[in-house]
Amino acid sequence: MTGLPRLRYGDHTWLELRELARRDDIVVVIPAATLEDHGYHLPIDTDVRLVEAIASGAVEAFNAAGSSRAILAPTQVHGYTPHHMDFPGSMTLRWNVFVESLLDQGRSLIHHGFERILIVNGHGSNIPLVNMAARLLNVEHRSAICASSFYLTSPESLALLEQHRTSGQGGMAHACELETSLYLAIRPDLVQMEHAVTEIPASYTKHVWMDWSDGALSYMPHWSAISESGVTGDAAAGTAEKGRIWLAQAIREIAEFIDDVATRPHAPGKDHH
Ligand SMILES: [Zn+2]
Repeated sequence: MTGLPRLRYGDHTWLELRELARRDDIVVVIPAATLEDHGYHLPIDTDVRLVEAIASGAVEAFNAAGSSRAILAPTQVHGYTPHHMDFPGSMTLRWNVFVESLLDQGRSLIHHGFERILIVNGHGSNIPLVNMAARLLNVEHRSAICASSFYLTSPESLALLEQHRTSGQGGMAHACELETSLYLAIRPDLVQMEHAVTEIPASYTKHVWMDWSDGALSYMPHWSAISESGVTGDAAAGTAEKGRIWLAQAIREIAEFIDDVATRPHAPGKDHH
């Protein structure tokens, strides 16, 4: 192979992928998201566009930093969001179809020899499902190293959110200060800031609330029961400047996750029977 490393899985020939799969330091990164309402001001592709920008930026940064390679797989665009179906435009997979889709992508990659896989997820309701898909792949394939993550969740990232946010608790849940800022940093022409609202659900209690991390008690009714606009948070507080700061940190964070997956020893365990 010659020239600069290509980022995207689909840009390679099968001969090139065969060669890459023979190495043990290649990480395949699968972004995962969903299409759903994001207030009056953000497109329904928000989770897709943000996670693609973060994952592709991280793959690029990781490849520039060392001799290992990361490859960006096609995005799992459709995710699990049945509770958003009151809002026109939302698309949902059944939870099991979503998990099975990720499993079959992982199984295909492992079949070809790509044993290091990172699913980078950008949609809150996908979290338990991407975690389960990664775990199931490790259980099925003992030498595989499949991991999953959200973004801006490391201690350093959470500190940077706190440092720059202007909203209080509840301001960063959905179509919020954070997602609006990130979208403004990526494609400001698609953000209709004149329609950005601040909506914090009145139903929040001590234990049930949402922010970039959530309250201890998990409760998820239909989204239309907690938000009129679709926003839960302070969308009006979003700025491109904050978005650029948080986007750069999200890329650094995911590049570190890729490095962890690239360098982690295989852990097949042993059967004590
Ligand atoms: Zn979102």
